Amino acid sequence: MAHPERVPEQELRGRLERVRAEMRRLEIDYLLVGPSTDLVYMIDYGVRQSERLTLLVVPREEPVRLVMPGFELPRVEGLAPLFEPVPWQDGEEPTETLARVVANRGSGATVAVGAQLFSHFLLRIQSVLGDATYVDGNRVLEPVRMRKSAWEVEKLRAAGEAADAVFDSLLQSDVEGRTEQELLARIHELLLEKGHESIGGGIVGVGPNGASPHHHVGDTRATRGSAVVVDFGGARDNYRSDITRTFHVGDPPQEFREVYRIVDEANQKAFEFARPGVRTSELDAVARKHIGDAGYGERFLHRLGHGIGLDGHEAPYLVDGSEVVVEEGMTFSIEPGIYLEGRFGVRIEDIVAVTGDGAARLNRATHELQVV
Ligand code: ZN
Ligand code: ZN
Repeated sequence: MAHPERVPEQELRGRLERVRAEMRRLEIDYLLVGPSTDLVYMIDYGVRQSERLTLLVVPREEPVRLVMPGFELPRVEGLAPLFEPVPWQDGEEPTETLARVVANRGSGATVAVGAQLFSHFLLRIQSVLGDATYVDGNRVLEPVRMRKSAWEVEKLRAAGEAADAVFDSLLQSDVEGRTEQELLARIHELLLEKGHESIGGGIVGVGPNGASPHHHVGDTRATRGSAVVVDFGGARDNYRSDITRTFHVGDPPQEFREVYRIVDEANQKAFEFARPGVRTSELDAVARKHIGDAGYGERFLHRLGHGIGLDGHEAPYLVDGSEVVVEEGMTFSIEPGIYLEGRFGVRIEDIVAVTGDGAARLNRATHELQVV
């Protein structure tokens, strides 16, 4: 299996600078990050969360440190020199090691804690750091991670291209007569073959199952006369792909064609509206209005989209009530759908990247209705 390419040191330094700028703005003294995509984002270190504490300590000014199990030191040797490892040994209490590197503990520091740290670690950290105020680390990391660097957009573009190639190849496989499970297995094979290093979950919904947006695959067969919704993705160099297409086995009835056209138009309208300065909630509203005007408003069952990067779903969310203003470098899905219970569903999803004056699609697989 392919291994993710290392993130250039300069790219990581840029991220650290932006995180610290956000910490200054929010008057946060320390940011603590456990094993998570946040840790991959900060120092390009992918490690599983376990019962042994690994914790990145980012002070506003002083050097960055990684509190970690001593015997895992060889794993961080090849990483960019942005932090100093602070090892602890089995038998020691790692939060005591942490306390030694937090200079002003007990003095009312404001500590931001990454969202994906096990709660039992947080409870122990709180007991050793004394008088501190704890805030959600997403307040620091989300605004930074939402705005992708040019390097990150290129990674997402490559992941998108690989996902497009999966869809093209899938249509050339024998689709008719296969079960949802078989089709998903084929998609997973193709994801690896086209350059992903890992696969996400994936949805294949045949016929009425396509009307359930998060359908779990089963043994329904894609027989002649069925609509098929496929939604899949994986990671390529740690950056995620996510695409949905809906196609038809055999000639589709007029109503399916009509619903397909409305969903495609809603996708296009939201895409054309995407640019710096609009609110993410407005993008949702544009697509929702189009589907509502066509008489299917009640059948668009979910938000328009979600951000994507190192996580398949991350900020910003394109949803009613969101105040997030779109900026250049944001990457998110546009995925309107219409779901007719007991009959069929249609969803068309692309990832887009916001440019200086509009947006670019990172998925190029055709929107033209495919009949196999
Ligand atoms: Zn998807
Ligand atoms: Zn999605």
